[in-house]
Amino acid sequence: MKTLLAETAERAATYLEGLKGRRVAPTPGDLAQLEELAGPLPEEGAEPAALLAQLDRYGSPATVGSAGGRYFGFVIGGALPAALAANWLAGAWNQNAGLEIASPVGVRLERVALGWVRELLGLPSSAQGVFVTGATMANFSALAAARHAVLEKAGWDVAAGGLFGAPRVTVVVGEEVHVTLLKALSLLGWGREQVVRVPTDAQGRMRADQLGELGGPTIVCLQAGNVNTGAFDPARQVCERAHGAGAWVHVDGAFGLWAHAAPGRRHLTEGVEQADSWAVDGHKWLNVPYDSGMAFVRDGEPLRAAMAGAERASYLPISGRGEPTEYAPELSRRARGVDAWAALRSLGRSGMADLVERCCYLAARLAERLRTGGCRILNDVVLNQVLVAFGSDERTRRVIEAVQRDGTCWCGGTVWHGTAAMRVSVSSWATTPEDIDRSAAAILRLAAE
Ligand SMILES: *Cc1c(COP(=O)(O)O)cnc(C)c1O
Repeated sequence: MKTLLAETAERAATYLEGLKGRRVAPTPGDLAQLEELAGPLPEEGAEPAALLAQLDRYGSPATVGSAGGRYFGFVIGGALPAALAANWLAGAWNQNAGLEIASPVGVRLERVALGWVRELLGLPSSAQGVFVTGATMANFSALAAARHAVLEKAGWDVAAGGLFGAPRVTVVVGEEVHVTLLKALSLLGWGREQVVRVPTDAQGRMRADQLGELGGPTIVCLQAGNVNTGAFDPARQVCERAHGAGAWVHVDGAFGLWAHAAPGRRHLTEGVEQADSWAVDGHKWLNVPYDSGMAFVRDGEPLRAAMAGAERASYLPISGRGEPTEYAPELSRRARGVDAWAALRSLGRSGMADLVERCCYLAARLAERLRTGGCRILNDVVLNQVLVAFGSDERTRRVIEAVQRDGTCWCGGTVWHGTAAMRVSVSSWATTPEDIDRSAAAILRLAAE
């Protein structure tokens, strides 16, 4: 065991060091070599050291270099050194953090980390948090609590009576709602046609003046950080209106809520603390290894009611101190709090502020380089997201393809208000000013070609 793990650590460190020099996307040749890992399951087992060598030889080159500093696709964070190392140790511990009795350390560190995050995000000190796989499940969990609460207020116990025959609940979202929030709603019983969409402005912010009349059981979903522009819905205005009508307000802040951790960006999140629930990712801006997300609810009771299940199994001891499984979709779950604890402990408050601020600065630096080089920047660069157009849609698409093929950096594409655009998201601790300048130079060279 000791030799195997030491060798594996050596391989991992060599891989990470190699990211500085290698292309970001794997080549077709690298991908073809994955065949070496396929085929039918052999009758006989393999030596762990031998299969690790095989995995490294054929697997490592076929990775996307998103752990390095020049990956700007989607919103994908890096993994901080302390978080990665803690994740390994937690892997060795192999804890099931669903119940305190199965993992006292996993549950304790989860509570500590959730407390730290709650404070960094400026959420109410009473808020109950829980770790889940990502913002999709955080949205799902928080909205399950919302569903329970608004129906309870309407005199309906959804945990007992289910949804068939329940009073109608109106769900309001912005036109720019993230697709995973709609997915969470559909899993919770709301169909596409039951969701009211509020128009958004040029940056993708919900227009509070277009909110319309609110009444009856209602959930309003806000977005803190648009996945294309980084823009924030006007939380203060919407919360005031929605709460005036007795509605529940949920905030999807997968990456954007972290803006609150940086004093220079905090104004963007103004008012989100007035909401009733929040979703945020760990594997984006906190830079913990995949996968990790957190749901918070102002009042933990409806979340418990939604997640604790109808009946208790007598073999599962519930401590009475709030078992994670009473607030989570899962019973068995990995100890995500360990990685998050390590990430936060290694950064401290100032380090977290610096990580957010640095990514924003680097996004603005890239935008400036590209603008100066003749590209069109389509969004107000207020956070870590940049949208770039290179002329016609056809030309923009060709430049994105060329950037991905070239391998100096990696950026994805999108369509923003009818215009094709390249998306840049700077979300990793590993990105340096040199990475930005090298990437900008490559993009401009490819655009000129
Ligand atoms: C990434 C993202 C999600 C989904 O998060 P996952 O962690 O991928 O499940 C939801 N909403 C927004 C705004 C996001 O950026």
